[in-house]
Amino acid sequence: MTALRVVLGDQCTAGLSSLEDLDPSADIVLMAEVMKECTYVPHHPKKIVLILSAMRHFARALEARGVSVEYIQLDDPDNTGSFRGEVLRACARHQPSRIVVTEPGEWRVLEDMRTWHEAAGIECDIRDDTRFLSRIQDFRAWARGRGAFRMETFYRAMRLQTGLLMDGKEPEGGRWNYDPENRKPLPRAVAAPPPPRFPPDAITQDVMALVAAHFPTHFGDVDGFALPVTNRDARVALADFVENRLAQFGDWQDAMRAGEGVLFHALISTSMNTGLLDPLEACRAAEAAFRMGLAPLNAVEGFIRQIIGWREFVRGVYWLRMPEYAGLNGLDAVRPLPGLYWTADTRMNCLHHAVSDTKAHAYAHHIQRLMVLGNFALLAGLHPDEVCEWFLVVYADAYEWVELPNVRGMALHADGGVMGSKPYASSGAYINRMSDYCHGCEYDVTRGVGEGACPFNALYWDFMARHGDRFARNPRMAMPLRTLSKMEPDKLAALRAQAAGFLAAMDAGERV
Ligand SMILES: Cc1cc2nc3c(=O)[nH]c(=O)nc-3n(C[C@H](O)[C@H](O)[C@H](O)COP(=O)(O)OP(=O)(O)OC[C@H]3O[C@@H](n4cnc5c(N)ncnc54)[C@H](O)[C@@H]3O)c2cc1C
Ligand code: SF4
Repeated sequence: MTALRVVLGDQCTAGLSSLEDLDPSADIVLMAEVMKECTYVPHHPKKIVLILSAMRHFARALEARGVSVEYIQLDDPDNTGSFRGEVLRACARHQPSRIVVTEPGEWRVLEDMRTWHEAAGIECDIRDDTRFLSRIQDFRAWARGRGAFRMETFYRAMRLQTGLLMDGKEPEGGRWNYDPENRKPLPRAVAAPPPPRFPPDAITQDVMALVAAHFPTHFGDVDGFALPVTNRDARVALADFVENRLAQFGDWQDAMRAGEGVLFHALISTSMNTGLLDPLEACRAAEAAFRMGLAPLNAVEGFIRQIIGWREFVRGVYWLRMPEYAGLNGLDAVRPLPGLYWTADTRMNCLHHAVSDTKAHAYAHHIQRLMVLGNFALLAGLHPDEVCEWFLVVYADAYEWVELPNVRGMALHADGGVMGSKPYASSGAYINRMSDYCHGCEYDVTRGVGEGACPFNALYWDFMARHGDRFARNPRMAMPLRTLSKMEPDKLAALRAQAAGFLAAMDAGERV
């Protein structure tokens, strides 16, 4: 009795649930590079290289364990271009008695997967993705009955569940969360060690050539690709982070610096999201560094919270609220995405660097994504659909389960406050405090109106004025709304006129 075990591109994990009871003498693993997945949005070429190369390496590793792998390459002449087409072709060839697969990371793929059973006329066993600490049904149960559920409450439950940084039933050090200590600006004298690079081997080079040939018009290119594509390299990357950057991860977590995209961040999301690195292993490695006195608690707690807190929480929210979540537009934002998100051609130095880094590396760190790219989109009222698609296209770690709640919810506040109790809106002052971008900018961050005034300032007050009524009863918005209410009407009118002028120029395609 042959089982056809289908492994998707972000499922390159030895302990995957769909491979658990694999019988190497009878079963076949199907792995297919399909055009539909490369083009349903025009992904950054480095993201496509990462996934296809990780798949090819993983297929080799399975074969080395004696597993029969049927591997369909993107340019195989008979490739139908879709998962469904390839599953049905494999069923016709091998006549399996059942299909076994691990649930996918995107709603659209799950909907497709649910049709395989009928189309193939055999059972399709869709298994839980056990690589996450919180199963979808666990999160559902946790969320049930909670009107507003918050990451922090969920995170504490995950700390208790995993035992990470626990001292019996109490949090290590007496506090659950050390975030207030993790918001320091980065002094000029502090240098960040360069992150490790993983030069492409022959397999990756083949994939790079394939991707460069097939997707020349996508945003970005394959040049300089140096991400881990195997479990071994992903673990090397983790060890390098723990040894060289973790100790300072907390202090400078929110800092940004022109020309240095990674700073003290871990650069492991691409590996965890493709299944090359176990999230719990990453957390345990960080905890061990703390226990050995190699990294302080604020850094280690902050890192672990991102993974067992935020990462698991956003996935829970995604599966709990899809498919309606993908259509939410709670702030009625309608402006089209301006071209500067693709060209980086803007006088705003912060956005210029964030987009340039993204294009070059398919990476930007959390604060660039949230407080520069996301903040501008929020303040300017860009349409969530267009912003979400951009974020899904440009980052090598972007899958809808993680991208959508972060963008539509956390950055754009379009979900009515599920992901955050208040919008992450800020003026230029925040960017100035946390980065050196403003020093090299054509705009003056200290001014709100007049030629050369920082656009974030006028846009911020315009946003507050536009949405003040919506947030009137939100205690976390009380301070800015109080300032707004005390502002001289003439001053507010001038700021709003400045914002309107800026947006009109941007909409007209002028270089702003
Ligand atoms: C607007 C926006 C869009 C984002 N889109 C994505 C995305 O498509 N894919 C993605 O993996 N992350 C996304 N994030 C979260 C976060 O920015 C990235 O996970 C992080 O920048 C990856 O780099 P790193 O590995 O160096 O992370 P570090 O800063 O070193 O953090 C360690 C790990 O924590 C996890 N993590 C941290 N914050 C989050 C978060 N908010 N949600 C989920 N996991 C988190 C990641 O797995 C990350 O690898 C987004 C955040 C924002 C604000
Ligand atoms: S002055 Fe304004 S636009 Fe320029 S870098 Fe600073 S925040 Fe960005």
